[in-house]
Amino acid sequence: MNIRNWLTEHKKKNLLRRLTPVKRLPDGQLVVPGHTSQQLLDFSSNDYLGLSTHKGMIELSRHFLELAGCGAGAARLMSGDLAMYHRLEEEVAQLKGQEAALLFGSGYMANCGVIPALVGRNDVIFTDRLNHASIYDGCSLSRAKLIRFHHNDLNHLEELLSKQRGKGEALIVVESLYSMDGDRCPLQDMVQLKEKFNCLLMVDEAHATGVFGKNGGGIIEEDGVAGRVDIAMGTFGKALGSYGAYIASTQNMIDFLINRARTFIYSTGLPPAVIGASLAATRIIRQEPELRRDLFARVDCFKAALAKKGVTNLGPSQIVPIMVGQSSRAVQIANALRDQGIFATAVRPPTVPEGTARLRFSITRHLGHEALQKAASLIGAALHAS
Ligand SMILES: *Cc1c(COP(=O)(O)O)cnc(C)c1O
Repeated sequence: MNIRNWLTEHKKKNLLRRLTPVKRLPDGQLVVPGHTSQQLLDFSSNDYLGLSTHKGMIELSRHFLELAGCGAGAARLMSGDLAMYHRLEEEVAQLKGQEAALLFGSGYMANCGVIPALVGRNDVIFTDRLNHASIYDGCSLSRAKLIRFHHNDLNHLEELLSKQRGKGEALIVVESLYSMDGDRCPLQDMVQLKEKFNCLLMVDEAHATGVFGKNGGGIIEEDGVAGRVDIAMGTFGKALGSYGAYIASTQNMIDFLINRARTFIYSTGLPPAVIGASLAATRIIRQEPELRRDLFARVDCFKAALAKKGVTNLGPSQIVPIMVGQSSRAVQIANALRDQGIFATAVRPPTVPEGTARLRFSITRHLGHEALQKAASLIGAALHAS
């Protein structure tokens, strides 16, 4: 591969990604130094509940930092197994309605560690086409046969299971809330299907934990299927406002992963400050359901304002996609919005299928009702103008 040609080619097609250093201000505002307009409203953060700046989290984080220092110093199977990890794991297991949990460095590492631990060369994985890149990478590392089903299409999945379930282990991997489309997996039908075909079911709740469920336990809690899911995965980096990730499951599964998941075994334990923040966040989302009600009041406000501008079909969650089709149009509208003080991402291939480029607005508690209404007007106008 010629790197210079590759860069020129991607720039021409509007597919070149660039880093944009930002500074965060209160009320969901961003400053992008070097950019003409001074302050932007941040519609691309996953800090849905606004917890990243929560005082209780900062306090516990600081406390753990001062108690235990900056780093764990070693992988947990060596001398790095701090007692605080176990406390967090117990509370996460409770939150997710599982017997036990295991921490990972990040959601990316969790997915890359768990999938190859569960299935191998003689097994098969059924994966929703729109699953996150970290799930795909975990699947590749496993060397299992990979079968992709149409997004959220359980008839298609059943057809594939009938033909290709095979005699080895079979793993179905889904997200409970899809990050690019903001739609939900029909989990009740999914658990029936996985039971019928005797498969393992892994549910990635990266965008759902903290946001859905009476206690913030995610869509597996809300749909009442926590006890029928084999592996519940989630991250602390999104609604929980911290960093790191976990797998929650049976005690046997966790004991197995401690011995088999290479991204767990060969990596340093998370820093104490991060554990303090995550532990506080896990408690806060259970104790403060009003955070979720408040978030969804803002989501409803944003969608109602868009509907007034004729923009409808915005899905059931805090992730609001607006389809625009071509990559170039998506980039053009995103740039126009940026000039008017709105920071939203144009999601383009290869992240999403060709021809389905979109603008993605994620709503957080940092954004006020007035700001949301104003943004919706500008978005409506930018869509009509393009
Ligand atoms: C963000 C995300 C991950 C990765 O989690 P990190 O903790 O950010 O590494 C995994 N799966 C899904 C569906 C995600 O959206």
